[in-house]
Amino acid sequence: MDFLRATTWAEALRMKADRPDATPVQGGTDVMVEINLDKGRPKALLDLTPVAELTEWSVESGNIRVGAGVTYTRVITELADRLPGLAQASRTVGSPQIRNRGTVAGNLGAASPAGDSHPPLLATGAIVEAESVDGVRMIPIGDFYTGVKRNALAANELIRAVHVPLRAGPQYFSKIGTRNAMVIAVCSFGIALNVAERTVGTGIGSAAPTPRRAVEAEAFLAENWSPGDPEVGRRFGELVAAAAAPIDDVRGSRDYRVHALAVMARRTLGWAWEEHRRTS
Ligand SMILES: Cc1cc2nc3c(=O)[nH]c(=O)nc-3n(C[C@H](O)[C@H](O)[C@H](O)COP(=O)(O)OP(=O)(O)OC[C@H]3O[C@@H](n4cnc5c(N)ncnc54)[C@H](O)[C@@H]3O)c2cc1C
Repeated sequence: MDFLRATTWAEALRMKADRPDATPVQGGTDVMVEINLDKGRPKALLDLTPVAELTEWSVESGNIRVGAGVTYTRVITELADRLPGLAQASRTVGSPQIRNRGTVAGNLGAASPAGDSHPPLLATGAIVEAESVDGVRMIPIGDFYTGVKRNALAANELIRAVHVPLRAGPQYFSKIGTRNAMVIAVCSFGIALNVAERTVGTGIGSAAPTPRRAVEAEAFLAENWSPGDPEVGRRFGELVAAAAAPIDDVRGSRDYRVHALAVMARRTLGWAWEEHRRTS
C-alpha cells in the first residue's frame, strides 16, 4: 500500500488527480478501522492531516465554512452557539478520543446512513465544497448522498469544507441508541426552525438507504404554522415517520424506527418551539 502525505491543499489536489484510487484520510476513525478489520485494502492512502488550510473555519456570507480537518471537539467547543444542531449531534459521536480525531468531512466521506452529522446538515441546508484540479464544485447536501455509503464525489475530488448556514432559530438533534454513549444510531432526527420565515428544516438518519429530509412534513408545518399546537406536532411526527424507509437489522426493527421517528420529530419540534417562546 502506498502512503501519500500532502502538506498543502494544492499538493493534496495534485496527488488525488495523479492517484484517484487513493483513499483520503482525515481523522482515520473510519478508514483505519476498516483496514484493521480487513474490510478492504486501499492501493494507496492520502493523508490530509498535515494540510493546515483544512483545519480552519470561517464565517462567509451567512454560513460557517467548516474546513474538512475541523474535528467534532472543535465544533462543540468553538461553534455550538452558531451551529447548535451540528454541535448537539457532534456531542453524541463516539467517545472523546473519537471526537478529538473525527471530522464532519470524514462523516460525509463515509456517507453512512447512520452518520450523526447528516441530519443537522440536511435540516440546515448545508453545502459541501468539493474540489479537484479541475475546480470547485458546491454540492447541495440533498444531492450529496447517492446510496448506502456512497456520495457524489468524483474520483479526483476531495472535500475542502462544508458550508453550514448560521443559526436562524432553535435547532435540535435527537438520537436513539442501545445505550447512551459510543453507539451507532438506531435512528436519529435533526430539526432547524426558522421562526422569522416560518419554515422548518428536517433530517432523518439511519432510517433509509441515505440520510434524507422529510419534505412533506416541512411543507405541512409551513402551511400550518402552529408549532406549539399538539395536534400539529402529532401530524408533523407522522409525516416525518412516513418519509422514512427503514429496514429491520441488528440495531432495531423497521416498526420501531418508524415509531421512534414520529416521537423524536414531535418532541424536537416541541423543544424548539419552547426555546423560541422562552428566548423571544
Ligand atoms: C469507536 C468509534 C465510534 C464511532 N462513533 C460514531 C458515532 O457515534 N457517530 C458517527 O456518526 N460516527 C461514529 N464513528 C465513525 C467515525 O468516527 C465518523 O464517521 C467520523 O466522522 C469519521 O471522520 P474521520 O475524520 O475520522 O474520517 P476518516 O476515517 O479519515 O475518513 C472517513 C471517510 O471519508 C473519506 N474522507 C476523509 N476526508 C476526506 C476529504 N477531505 N475528502 C474526501 N473524502 C474524505 C475517507 O476516504 C473515508 O472514506 C465511530 C467510529 C469509531 C471507531
